[in-house]
Amino acid sequence: MAGIYIHIPFCAKRCIYCDFFSTIQSKKKGAYVDALCGELVERRGYLLGTVVSTVYFGGGTPSQLSFHDFSRIFDVIREYYKVSDECEITVEANPDDLDDSYVEQLCMLPFTRLSMGIQTFHNPTLRLLNRRYLAEEAVEAYGRCRKAGFDNISIDLMYGLPGQTLEMLGDDVARAISMRPQHISSYALMYEEGTPLWKLRQEDKVREADEELSLSMYSLLVNELKKSGYQHYEISNFCLPSYHSRHNSSYWQGEAYLGVGAGAHSFDGNSRQWNKPDLDAYLATRPFDREELDLATRYNEFVMTRLRTMWGLPLKLLLQDFGMSLYEHCLLMAQYYLHRGLLERIDDTLRLTPQGIFVSDGIMSDLMWVD
Ligand code: SF4
Repeated sequence: MAGIYIHIPFCAKRCIYCDFFSTIQSKKKGAYVDALCGELVERRGYLLGTVVSTVYFGGGTPSQLSFHDFSRIFDVIREYYKVSDECEITVEANPDDLDDSYVEQLCMLPFTRLSMGIQTFHNPTLRLLNRRYLAEEAVEAYGRCRKAGFDNISIDLMYGLPGQTLEMLGDDVARAISMRPQHISSYALMYEEGTPLWKLRQEDKVREADEELSLSMYSLLVNELKKSGYQHYEISNFCLPSYHSRHNSSYWQGEAYLGVGAGAHSFDGNSRQWNKPDLDAYLATRPFDREELDLATRYNEFVMTRLRTMWGLPLKLLLQDFGMSLYEHCLLMAQYYLHRGLLERIDDTLRLTPQGIFVSDGIMSDLMWVD
């Protein structure tokens, strides 16, 4: 099985923390959809005819596309790819775009899953971040999508926001749980160099949450969501049973995927390829780079992605794909953490324990291979 990722780099306005590749030049949308369709046709051999089991429209803001834009892309996918009948098809949407008529149109397209970037229910923080909606509007948009028939909705929440206390995050988590989405992704706010948020911190106008507060926030999230029946299936992702993101899980399981659009990455099992994150260049000649992955790099990615999830790292597969010396290296480096209860080995699988999740970066980097 394989996946297709489609990058839609348009946003109505920029959030102050964002360093993703996106643009507010909406005039080029039509030309961009033409180019996306062209790339899908041109690269139809990339997945070697493997059945496509997930399609993901990410951004930017995919909900900036019209019904007509999506229809054109789906026509090309249907014509040139083998798509599974059970294909998970996700669209990321900004709550502000989800009015009655747009939701109705989304329902006429083959989406099976909707991902809404809510981030927080605290209106002053939404304004500070330059998000386009208020909390009440996001809740209403969610309700509209539910009513229209979307039965698999994910919401994003952020923590470590400027001025956010543990109590404020507790309120956000409680509101999110009360909406009962099938899936919740949660990320710590990052201060990326060059963003307006970075500048505000330089000028001492906002303060970054310190490590202790960030850890307490993460712990609150994990505990509250678990208490409410959400599985903590990946470091930053939670779901009601059986509602994990199949698309993102396929990245963590090392499956092949084709990424189309400016800045999109593709992976075929042995090499990685990525389009340059430049809209005009994409429209003109679609320049891309490619990297063959050597054994050590593939092993390091295997450790990093497999340990992120509750399914853990399958040791037999490690031995089979990477050979005895990397297998032994992994087990040797794991001993320290196994003894301290931060990793557990159950049959053939090595997994982070609930305590290990809090120090996962250090564990993964110790298990990696460094020349
Ligand atoms: S909507 Fe998403 S991609 Fe667009 S600016 Fe905000 S965070 Fe970045």
